[in-house]
Formats: sequence, structure tokens, C-alpha cells
Amino acid sequence: MTSNQDWKARSLAHVWHPCTQMQDHAGGDDAPIPLLPIASAEGAWLQDFDGRRYLDVIGSWWTSIFGHRHPHVVARLKAQLDSLDHVMLGGFTHAPAVELAEKLCALTPPGLNRVFYACDGSSAVEIALKMSVHYWRNCGNPNKTQFITLENGYHGETLGAMAVDGVDAYRSDYATLLMEAIFVPSPDCYDRTPGTSWEDHSRRQFKHMEAALAQHADTTAAVILEPLIQGAAGMRMYHPVYLKLLREACDRHHVHLILDEIAVGFGRTGRMFAADWVDPVQNAGGDDTRPFSCDFMCLSKGLTNGTLPLSCVLTTDAVYDAFYDDHASHKAFLHSHTYSGNPLACTAALATLELFEQDDWMARNRRTAALMWEGMSPLLQHPNVAEIRAQGMILAVEMVAKSRPRTPYPSSERRGLRAYRHALSAGKNAGVLLRPLGDVIYLMPPYIVTPEEVTLMCQTAIDSINHATTA
Ligand SMILES: *Cc1c(COP(=O)(O)O)cnc(C)c1O
Repeated sequence: MTSNQDWKARSLAHVWHPCTQMQDHAGGDDAPIPLLPIASAEGAWLQDFDGRRYLDVIGSWWTSIFGHRHPHVVARLKAQLDSLDHVMLGGFTHAPAVELAEKLCALTPPGLNRVFYACDGSSAVEIALKMSVHYWRNCGNPNKTQFITLENGYHGETLGAMAVDGVDAYRSDYATLLMEAIFVPSPDCYDRTPGTSWEDHSRRQFKHMEAALAQHADTTAAVILEPLIQGAAGMRMYHPVYLKLLREACDRHHVHLILDEIAVGFGRTGRMFAADWVDPVQNAGGDDTRPFSCDFMCLSKGLTNGTLPLSCVLTTDAVYDAFYDDHASHKAFLHSHTYSGNPLACTAALATLELFEQDDWMARNRRTAALMWEGMSPLLQHPNVAEIRAQGMILAVEMVAKSRPRTPYPSSERRGLRAYRHALSAGKNAGVLLRPLGDVIYLMPPYIVTPEEVTLMCQTAIDSINHATTA
């Protein structure tokens, strides 16, 4: 009773899988999306119950940055289990929560000095939204309750986070449950006219944001967006100049800036945080500049290297101070999650951050990223590839029915899924786990991938794209 077949049958009898039309798993090996039971994982590899291996080049939903079961993370967790498993963070504190908060405040852009813990990305987004509105209320501005966000953005699946999701597929069925957000066109450079630079395109697109801020500042608490890369929209990318302009405009209009770095934080873009790419900003009124920062930063995914669920929101002393008052003032932030700041999860995060100190990962990632680009460059002239784009350790290939003029495939053809299936079954004993977003094939491997693994990943991705785009 330990084969793939057994686990699949038992899973399908009781487990309702996330982000899935369950009928896609029906039909055994011929199912549109074959369900894959995984027995073990190590480094960049997953292994099923029949001994077949899969190179996990999407880091299991973007969490695994140093590879599965990294020995340092495993050792730190085992040691932590011998002293403290869990204690609630309401009224109590513990070493891992304190040490992690100290480290995160030191690593993130200046001014982010306070850490509020939660368990998953969506709840971090909820916290940032609630804190922002509550801040304005505590400061005597109860009308600032709205949010401005980007079309094609993604911030999670809970009701508040979904309300600021710009990807319709995830939200349209729940529209009646959602508060109304203000959506502005994205700086996404896939949409730039040929010959326009990324910087020019993103700069031009800012006029929509400026107009929305000018119109709605009095009722807007914050702008929330994914910095530089709109992940769930298909790894769409834009230029950091947009964030510089946005910071300056938020200052002018007295609106908070929330950066959702859940997918891109911790080195994925080539710097520790996507925010680290943004040039210094002009201070409102004066000609002085200061380093770019935000009012709230949401972190999760890579934070624990995919070991345990944990998220957090970092914010400023100015925000913190607006809640700090006599009990009777009723200004406290009463939000809580039972497992907030769980000691094991915080230890996994600390161990992950320690790994950054052990090597120059950004330099190593630059070399790996160059290999990825070189490996995928044969597709640059492919008639069914509209664009290859990359930022740090993310590379994405946009498959289209026709590249000139760009014509997408009908979504019913599920071309991305064809590539996915092809890659899984690529080698005799080993496949590659791509998990396309629609017709976008992307590579987001753990930082520990070897040059040989990069070659296998790129070759398989190219074969799979060729397969998926053939009639
Ligand atoms: C994944 C993700 C979220 C949601 O995180 P969950 O842990 O899935 O709730 C929010 N924002 C971004 C940018 C994400 O990539």
C-alpha cells in the first residue's frame, strides 16, 4: 500500500486540493492534470512513491529558495523542538520571535522597525490593510478607508486580500462579498509599444496612478502593489522608476504605501528585496533625497524556505505610535492569529536568514540567472514566443498563437498544461516540475540549483514549449 496509485486513490477520496478543478484529476495517469503523490524531497528535487524524481523549478509555489530540507534549517528546527514548540504571542514572547524581528528590521529598507507576525501571505495582507485604515482612524481621519491597487495584481485569497486582487479569475465569483477597491492600469512592460524602454513605459503608465491619487486621496488609506513583478498575472514585470514616483506621490497625497513582497522578497529579484532596486526619492517640499522605503511590507513564502507557514508585516514607528496609548483610548490593534509568531516557524525563518550570511548568494544568483537566460535564448526567435523576460532568478516565456501581431491562444486549448505534462514525463526516471500560469512558462528555481540542473531545466522547458505550441 505505498505506490503512487494507492496514495492518489486515497487522496482523491477525501482531500480537496487548492486552486484545482477536482475533475481535472480524474482518470488516473490520463487525467488532464495527473495528481502527483510526493514521498520525499531533497535540494531541488521531489521524489514520488514509485521512485520517479522531479526537478522542482518553481520552488513549490515560490517558497523553496535554498532547496527542500536544507540541512541547516532541519538541524535548527530539530534543536528548537527540544526546547519550545509553541507559546501564544499574546502576553508572551520568545527568543525566535525576538531574534527574527531584529534581523528583519535590520535587513529591510530604512524605517521599518516594527514586526507583526501572522501565518500566511493573505493574512499579512489583511493586517497591512487593517493597520493602514486603523492608523488613519486613530489620527482623526476616519474617511480614509479605500485602497488603490493595480490591474493584474495578486494579494491572496481571503476577502480583504481578494478585494485588492486585480486578476479576475480568482475574485469574480465572490464579487458581492468584496469591498470596492480602485484599480489602475498596470506599468506591466509586456504592454509597451515596440521601441519603448521599460523605464519609459512604466513612467508613462504612472499618470493613471497619479490621477487616481489626485481624485481619491481624501478617502484612500493606502496603495498596495507587488513591487517589480506581478507574479500570479504571469510574472509580468515593470521598472523600479514606478515605485520611486509612487513613493513621492503617496507622500504628497498623504496615502500609505504597502509593498507586497510575499513572492519577491529574499533575493528573488537579484537584491534582498525588490524595494532595494528603487532609487532614492525626493522629500516632499524640499530638494533633499532619502532612501526609498514603504509604510508596510508584507513577507511570507521564502521567509521559512518553504519549511513552515509564517508571514509578517513590517511597519514604521510612526504607524506603531498611532496605536500606542492608554487602554481606555481603544486605539490598540486587536488583530490576532492563534499561531502568530510560532517558535518553530520563526526558527525556520532565522535559519533561512543565516544561510544568506554564509555565502554571497546574490553573486551566485547573478551567475545562475545568466545561465538561465543563455539556456532559454534559443526561443528568442520562436514564432510562438511573444517575449522572454527575466529579473534576477525569475525567467518567464510568454507563449502565443502568433507573435506578430501578438495573438494569444484561446484559453480553452490549455497550452500551458500541455507543456506542464510534457515536462513531468520528460526523462526516463526524472521529470521537471514547471507549473505554468496560463500560457506563461516560468522558471523560479531554488538558489542552490547547479549548472547541470539549469541545463536540464532549460532544455526540458524548451522541449515542452515546442511540444505545447505544435498544432
Ligand atoms: C502567494 C501570494 C500571496 C498570498 O499568500 P498565501 O500564503 O498564499 O496566502 C499574496 N501576495 C503575493 C504577491 C503572493 O505571491
